[in-house]
Amino acid sequence: MSIAENLLSIKNNLPEHVALVAVSKTKPIADLMEAYNAGQRIFGENKIQEMEGKWEEMPKDIQWHMIGHVQTNKVKFMAPFVSLIHGVDSFKLLKEVNKQALKNDRFIDCLLQMHIAEEETKFGLDDDELNSILASKEFKDMKNIRITGLMGMATFTDNQDQVKKEFSHLKSIYDKLQSQKIENCQLNTLSMGMSGDYKLAIEFGSTMIRIGSSIFGTR
Ligand SMILES: *Cc1c(COP(=O)(O)O)cnc(C)c1O
Repeated sequence: MSIAENLLSIKNNLPEHVALVAVSKTKPIADLMEAYNAGQRIFGENKIQEMEGKWEEMPKDIQWHMIGHVQTNKVKFMAPFVSLIHGVDSFKLLKEVNKQALKNDRFIDCLLQMHIAEEETKFGLDDDELNSILASKEFKDMKNIRITGLMGMATFTDNQDQVKKEFSHLKSIYDKLQSQKIENCQLNTLSMGMSGDYKLAIEFGSTMIRIGSSIFGTR
């Protein structure tokens, strides 16, 4: 199937409240344009410089999502245009995003990335780190960021029960936050689910899925 066909077959079967991020990392602009021409407007990249290059070349009505791990010293390159940063996993990074957003006279929407997987290697905050960020005065004083939700990645495993447990854990954190009134937070996004597990993620309350290989083919 073509990129456009892959895209539409996923998109046409999504519930209305679930947004689709087309994860286009490593793929050439021609591939992204095929998805664009089929109606896709949200693209996800995991390297800032690659995203910047594509942003420069491509139509300006695209929303660019940074889904990868972000190095603090590179935030400035995406601050003028990034539409959502999924992988905010430290206070230091959040401070830098706020600073660069201020420099660009704008708000930058961020998701806090939670560590839900068993693997040691996956980035993310634990519950204590999350709570201490949200409770801090310094956080409340940040004027140029908005926390719009949470992001998480499940363990890469065939064990469905494991994945279900992790998605349900993330959803419970999200629900708990949503029930509170927190400065700088307007929670409407739960980013969970990739090509291999997005159907399960949606069952467990995902509102945003990040799909790469099922649209663009293997990398
Ligand atoms: C690459 C990537 C995806 C997409 O993965 P696929 O399995 O190709 O759908 C989703 N989320 C993150 C954070 C990624 O790095």
